[in-house]
Amino acid sequence: MRGSLPWWKRLFGRCILAKMQGRYDLEEAYNRQAAETIRPALGHTPLILVGGLRTVAQMETVLTEGHSDLIAMSRPFIREPALVDKIKSGQTHKVACVSCNRCLAAVAAGLPIRCYQRRWPSTL
Ligand code: SF4
Repeated sequence: MRGSLPWWKRLFGRCILAKMQGRYDLEEAYNRQAAETIRPALGHTPLILVGGLRTVAQMETVLTEGHSDLIAMSRPFIREPALVDKIKSGQTHKVACVSCNRCLAAVAAGLPIRCYQRRWPSTL
């Protein structure tokens, strides 16, 4: 019965449906425009950009073009805890996280945080 599902299952069901319909494909570094807009008002306060950074090229662009002073990521480190070492050693130029948000749904359900992209937790 749909009405009895917890909020996070309903939300995640909508996320999956939207992704299947191609509606949740945000562009990489989707907060870049917002960073450009607010940057002049910050003065010397450092700006940290987060949101959809998935390639090393885009990370470098954001930093070298002055859109932000630092970058932050979350889901890519859930998928690849050693991501910084992989990038520094040239093993990868793109993160493995596909932004499916299954880890978010799992945490909302009280399950351990890890990447669930390849396999749903059995309790969901
Ligand atoms: S579950 Fe999906 S969003 Fe979360 S880390 Fe894995 S691939 Fe990324």
